[in-house]
Amino acid sequence: MSGPVPLGDQTAVPSRIATVSLHTSPLDQPGTGDAGGLNVYVVEVARRMAERGVAVDVFTRATTPSLPSVVELFPGVNVRHVPAGPYGHLDKNTLARYLCPFVFGMLRAEAQGDPGHYDLVHGHYWLSGRAGVMAARRWGVPMVQTMHTMARVKNAALAEGDTPEPEERVRGEDQLVRQADRLIANTDDEARQLVDFYGARRDQLHTIPPGVDLDTFTPGSRTEALDRIGLPRDTHLLLFVGRVQRLKAPDVLIRAAAELLERDPSLRDRLVVGVVGGLSGGGTREPRMLADLARSLGVADVVRMEPPQDRARLADYYRAATATVVPSYSESFGLVAVESQACGTPVVASRVGGLTMAVSDGFSGVLIDGHDPRHYAAELHRLIHEPARRAKLAEAAPLHAATLGWSRTVDELLNVYRSALAPNDLPLAEAAGR
Ligand code: UDP
Repeated sequence: MSGPVPLGDQTAVPSRIATVSLHTSPLDQPGTGDAGGLNVYVVEVARRMAERGVAVDVFTRATTPSLPSVVELFPGVNVRHVPAGPYGHLDKNTLARYLCPFVFGMLRAEAQGDPGHYDLVHGHYWLSGRAGVMAARRWGVPMVQTMHTMARVKNAALAEGDTPEPEERVRGEDQLVRQADRLIANTDDEARQLVDFYGARRDQLHTIPPGVDLDTFTPGSRTEALDRIGLPRDTHLLLFVGRVQRLKAPDVLIRAAAELLERDPSLRDRLVVGVVGGLSGGGTREPRMLADLARSLGVADVVRMEPPQDRARLADYYRAATATVVPSYSESFGLVAVESQACGTPVVASRVGGLTMAVSDGFSGVLIDGHDPRHYAAELHRLIHEPARRAKLAEAAPLHAATLGWSRTVDELLNVYRSALAPNDLPLAEAAGR
């Protein structure tokens, strides 16, 4: 029979955990649809947990009947596909209807193992959290939750014309905050938002920043990277990476590029604005709108829309760039910013959410207040025309990224798991109604 492994000092490490990633699978390509930083987080953490002897089952919704019910992702990490609702892509706002069949599938999978199969449940995003709480209560184990994004926070910083998150999500998150034994925030800012917007208790909260894969995202020659992605060596590549959605504001980069060219038309032959990523789950019109915008501003010739790239190829895009631009309206952390810096490329980002931690302002990149394209253009102009300034930031960027490796994230998560499993944590578990 499995179960937490007791240590001499009465704390226990879990031997097997159930990670819940209901709406998006760790097998999906990040940077398109509903897949992004959350997927990267789940994969990178699960791999390293397994390397430390903690087996991980990731529960995700089955989106096609042809998927095997269990897929081994790495040794010690399995992805379990749970049928819940109709196959195919379902909008996140529809998925709440299928929480019960999803939980039923989790319970059925667990029942096939020894009693006490899972020591702990970790949910990612509110839908997974709602399902995870139900399973954790049934199994009598602690529930740890990472929100990644929160409706009230998103709604407070909506881009113009963007649709607010529904009330059902707000209520679901409220309930989840009351029920989870532990809440993991990516940044202190997010921890504060959990308290201010949702009334989270201080004793539930832990701030653990996500990380970056420091083996894949490494500095390298800019000219060789430009060769590999098929751009001339004198190119100034201004890079946007991520899902093309209003919240991430790729339009600000395109407007800034137009501004830049107006100031300095001689750049025209060398400037490329690279937009790497696919459609977001909810926004099907954005890429067309972006292309229309580029045309209307007379910069369509410098904009290159690229499909989502795998991690190795993405590293070359970062290395090739003069700067990566992250002008988001809201960002719970901003993995892209850290990956770029790990590759030795400075980041120009908006001063919001996790980006204030992901980027060390003036050291590894530059943070900008607001979304005025002129401010972005001014900073990009300096990076292009003051090579010494760019070189200084580029040199510091990997140093800052090195403080944010996944190993540290996993060590700190394991500490939280241990504390949630400690016998003196029982009152908290009882408070959660188990
Ligand atoms: N990504 C990728 N290929 C792409 C575009 C993005 O693998 O073509 C990954 C990127 O490397 C990052 C993640 O998607 O790890 C996006 O995470 P981020 O925190 O920046 O944004 P989110 O999608 O979570 O809002």
